[in-house]
Amino acid sequence: MKKLFIVANWKMNGSKKSNEQLINYINEKIYENPNIEVIICPPFTYLTQITKLKTKSIKMGAQNISESQNGAFTGEISGSILQDMSVDYVIIGHSERRQMYNDTNAVIAQKFESAHQNNLIPILCVGESLNERKTGKTLSVVESQIKSVIESTRIELFTKSIIAYEPVWAIGTGETASPEQAEEVHSNIRSIIEEYDSNIATSIPILYGGSVNGANCKDLFKMNNINGGLIGGASLNEEEFVEIYQKAERLINE
Ligand code: PEP
Repeated sequence: MKKLFIVANWKMNGSKKSNEQLINYINEKIYENPNIEVIICPPFTYLTQITKLKTKSIKMGAQNISESQNGAFTGEISGSILQDMSVDYVIIGHSERRQMYNDTNAVIAQKFESAHQNNLIPILCVGESLNERKTGKTLSVVESQIKSVIESTRIELFTKSIIAYEPVWAIGTGETASPEQAEEVHSNIRSIIEEYDSNIATSIPILYGGSVNGANCKDLFKMNNINGGLIGGASLNEEEFVEIYQKAERLINE
């Protein structure tokens, strides 16, 4: 039976009031299940609030990490601070950070290393733009994004890491990759990792992200090489997010 990961990326959204409502609702509907990992990634400032509100069936994630360890880096948050705040996971290389904050492959590799140095599990995001898909570059773009991290760090670090395939054209657009389109890239990601280590290639969770919702998640999660979803917009809607969780639960029990 495969394990599914349901990761909520709240991005720069929320308020103390709306967070409380959302987490209370999720707490009521989500049960501890060894085959489903629910991870909430709120803005940094709400980490403490969510940690206090959540039940233990929910894990905490951050949306970013500094590539530096500590010191004079105004406005940054280090891996050791995240660890101190009881964070378990961290999203690295989200396309919004690659595009808007100059997170290059080199910086992403440093952040990936820093996550591991602080016992955080990185969720490494990769994915092509619309133009790259249209010009047949999807697989080569994803390959270079993954290989640049492997070659700047070590393949062993991927034993305790997650990859999220997020086609840029599907993020926040309402347009989802078809299960077959996603599966093609996911299985290709396993082949890339297999060049380095076949055990890691089989075991690493690979999530799909890009307009996942209650209606389309089941067909995506059913695919052999898809181990759950990284969910943006739909994670801010309590009913939609719980519907995704419940569909995952049904799939696990089928
Ligand atoms: C994301 O933020 O990683 C994401 C996939 O967003 P959305 O679900 O809104 O497309």
